Amino acid sequence: MSWCLTRIADSLWKPVGRILYRYPSSGGGNRVTSRTFCASSRSTSSFARPSSNAANSRCSTFRQKFGRFSTPARRIFSSRFPSLRSSSFPSVDPEFAMPEKKQFERLPTNVVPHLYDLFLKPNLKNATFEGRETVHIEINSPTNSITLNLVDLKIKSCTLAKDGSQLTPTVKLNAEDETLTLSFEEELTKGSAELQIEFTGELNDKMRGFYRSTASAADGEQKYVAVTQFEPTDARRCFPCWDEPAIKAVFEITISAPKDKVVLSNMPCTQETIDGDWKTSKFAPSLVMSTYLVAVVVGDFDYVEDKSDDGVLVRVYTPPGVKEQGEFALYVATKVLPFYKDYFQIAYPLPKIDLVAIADFSAGAMENWGLVTYRQACLLVDPKNTSASHKQLIAVVVGHELAHQWFGNLVTMEWWTHLWLNEGYASFVENLCVAELFPEYNIWTQFVSDVFIKALELDCLKNSHPIEVPVGHPSEIEEIFDDISYNKGASVIRMLHRYIGDDDFRKGMNIYLTRHQYKNTFTEDLWAALEEPSKKPVRAVMSSWTKQMGFPVIRVTASEQDGDSRILTVTQEKFVADNSESDNWLWMVPLTFSVKGREEEVCHSEVLETRTAKIRIPNVPEGAWVKLNPGTNGVYRVQYPQNLLDQLIPAIEDKSLPPLDRLGIVDDLFALVKAGQASSAQVLKVLAAMRNEDNYTVWNIIGNCMSKLRSLISNTDYSDEFNKFGRYLFKPIGQKLGWDPKPNEGHMDTLLRSFVNARLGSYGDQETIAEAKKRFAAHLSGESVIPADLRVAVYLSVISSGDEDTFNTMIKLYREENLQEEKDRIGRSLGAFKDKNILSKVLEFAMSDEVRSQDKVFVMVSIDMTKPGRELLWEFVRTNWTDLLRRYEGGFLLSRLVKSSMENFASEEMASSIEEFFKNAECSSATRSIQQSVESIRLNASWLNRDKDQIKEFLANFKYD
Ligand SMILES: [Zn+2]
Repeated sequence: MSWCLTRIADSLWKPVGRILYRYPSSGGGNRVTSRTFCASSRSTSSFARPSSNAANSRCSTFRQKFGRFSTPARRIFSSRFPSLRSSSFPSVDPEFAMPEKKQFERLPTNVVPHLYDLFLKPNLKNATFEGRETVHIEINSPTNSITLNLVDLKIKSCTLAKDGSQLTPTVKLNAEDETLTLSFEEELTKGSAELQIEFTGELNDKMRGFYRSTASAADGEQKYVAVTQFEPTDARRCFPCWDEPAIKAVFEITISAPKDKVVLSNMPCTQETIDGDWKTSKFAPSLVMSTYLVAVVVGDFDYVEDKSDDGVLVRVYTPPGVKEQGEFALYVATKVLPFYKDYFQIAYPLPKIDLVAIADFSAGAMENWGLVTYRQACLLVDPKNTSASHKQLIAVVVGHELAHQWFGNLVTMEWWTHLWLNEGYASFVENLCVAELFPEYNIWTQFVSDVFIKALELDCLKNSHPIEVPVGHPSEIEEIFDDISYNKGASVIRMLHRYIGDDDFRKGMNIYLTRHQYKNTFTEDLWAALEEPSKKPVRAVMSSWTKQMGFPVIRVTASEQDGDSRILTVTQEKFVADNSESDNWLWMVPLTFSVKGREEEVCHSEVLETRTAKIRIPNVPEGAWVKLNPGTNGVYRVQYPQNLLDQLIPAIEDKSLPPLDRLGIVDDLFALVKAGQASSAQVLKVLAAMRNEDNYTVWNIIGNCMSKLRSLISNTDYSDEFNKFGRYLFKPIGQKLGWDPKPNEGHMDTLLRSFVNARLGSYGDQETIAEAKKRFAAHLSGESVIPADLRVAVYLSVISSGDEDTFNTMIKLYREENLQEEKDRIGRSLGAFKDKNILSKVLEFAMSDEVRSQDKVFVMVSIDMTKPGRELLWEFVRTNWTDLLRRYEGGFLLSRLVKSSMENFASEEMASSIEEFFKNAECSSATRSIQQSVESIRLNASWLNRDKDQIKEFLANFKYD
């Protein structure tokens, strides 16, 4: 799946405060009214289960799984990392244990399916469907019962055909385990059989399983689309099945639908028969695949099509009447397929691939094999109204989903513990193809600000989790579609890519995909394949990064010159956000170095395996600076002694250091500040020195640091002084870029202009606000439409100084808009109002029928931009907690909402009051997010305590020139 709509545009939408990384899956759809939503009756989530001590049972599940690793691999690992023997490998450390739940068990393997012959007939008007299936199964050992997954379906009939006789089992549903158990009077003998089940279900409005999306036709008539979203565990809501990634089978799908509808599935349609107003579409048998990748779409669409260079038929399906909006994604997809074919040396194995835009969609996109579904804003480009940042996003999302066609679909993780194999890898490789297709995006530079640093920010918390995290029940699985699986996963693969080099990386990937095609893998299988061509200890190095949570800080403790060599003494220690003791952790760290005069090269590299080492770097002239981690590639922070840092600052100021090194130094320093290992005044001094910066990505990091400082300072009485400093910092670059694009300027300048103007507006720069108001007025009157790239900057500036009339105008624009991307821009800017009464109206609007279920949360959380908004949002979440839980259960929205509404507070009272509240409230799949948020609040509180006086003093004495 992909969730990265926010990836490049966060900074535009949200001038301050934290961001929301994933899309909501929600209940309620467009029919839910704010009245329904605000009801405060307490109901229990269907996922709520009695708490029991399940940590041990999860350990044993984890051990079972790890038992499949070779003993030597485990031995090597444990001997290198003694700290892991007793904690994270293989048992579960209480600090990152998932919320305690009833013991979870995977399906028994005594009976497995190999072919599903599946028939589905959706009724779009009534929002129901009927289905039947014949599952060809293999009974591996004699048994009296068969257990498979099912939830929210009604069984009409169930029989088993075996050895010429028809057996009727007793059927038992277990809602909590989401299983269906069929019991037979007589023992079933070993051999094959056919299980026939008839069932009915509801086309729900929760954007999961088989659901109904609503689209309005041009004539105003409501039209519906029936669509599936199965990852991770919702195929069981559509048909009874063995819903685990490792239980792969062939799917032969037949759909009955009104004859005027477009009907799509994973494979091409091979036969269509019309009977009255209905048609039956039969699809070619699929390849062997996991249930979570099965897909069906029924609705009204137009499409554009083309063939990739290697002969795959690619179609992009759009809402009727706007098929040209599919052209950009079509271009990207036809280029990406041959790129991956060449990269992996394995052809895309299906004859076709469809990319379909869906009006109501919980994630960003979903990689169903041969039928990739997208939320509209992640697929459609309207040349007049799509911004450069949005086009970039679409290229990245298409690249991500198509990477999954190999990595995930052809070769699949054995269990969700290895989810990161899918997501971390796709989040890495999407950049390889986008860098090739669109070099002007400088995508690898943006990777560091958008992916790498996000991972580090989360992973320094005590409530983080290792990349490989044992999970069981669906509610636990949902919660690990997070920054660790995606962003840290991608970051450690990027580090590995450099460590072994692109040639060996490619060779290893080919070995991995060829060896395991149509099968499932553990993380270790990937390391084994990459180890073969590279002959490097990939498994040992990488296990320290995937099985332990967190990452190290590398401290340079001494530096001496020895002839033409520099000798650095370095130590590694776990980097912990609260700077607490962290013994017993050790990583194998691929260290790299650069030196003044050869800034763009890695002048020396070696793997640090011990706590402390002396490293000799040859050919370093006396007095020249030496920098660790050129390109900010290694997943660690660096702390220099003051004299070495002072040597590097001029190279930041004169930009002789490459952009990734400039931003790496600043971000490391900022992380050390938050952890109390450096002072806020120190980092403010460095930020002030970066006023002449001109690189978009570096500005992004400066902006990130400033947002966090501003959020902190919103708890003091000197916000105005801080805003003045913000204006000082951003003004020169704002003046340089202006409002209008320059001829032949690059993509990055376009992104930077929007970013900087939005910031200046949010810091209250009167010139910027006046210009924004002028442009907004001309936009409204139709005199001059604001270019898409500038709209967020204008909206935020206008709204942040706006009143009730402004609110009404924005809502009118929202209502009249059809393009999802523009609705997003408006909706997510609404939180910039400063008046608490207007912010209440924003919340009300978010919950009204006018905002699609998929978008509600983004409008809601936009109000955490300011302190009053943050307080209002938390109050809203607290008051409506039970209903929020009911609506968003099992989805990732809940945890995102939790974070946005809580983590920017900065007082112990707030942390305790939140803890107190959740002691008595069911919190289902949001447990880890709540713990992370409370931890963040306490970190903010101690940071504020520690540094508030010195920041005040710095701002008061700052010499503005
Ligand atoms: Zn994905």
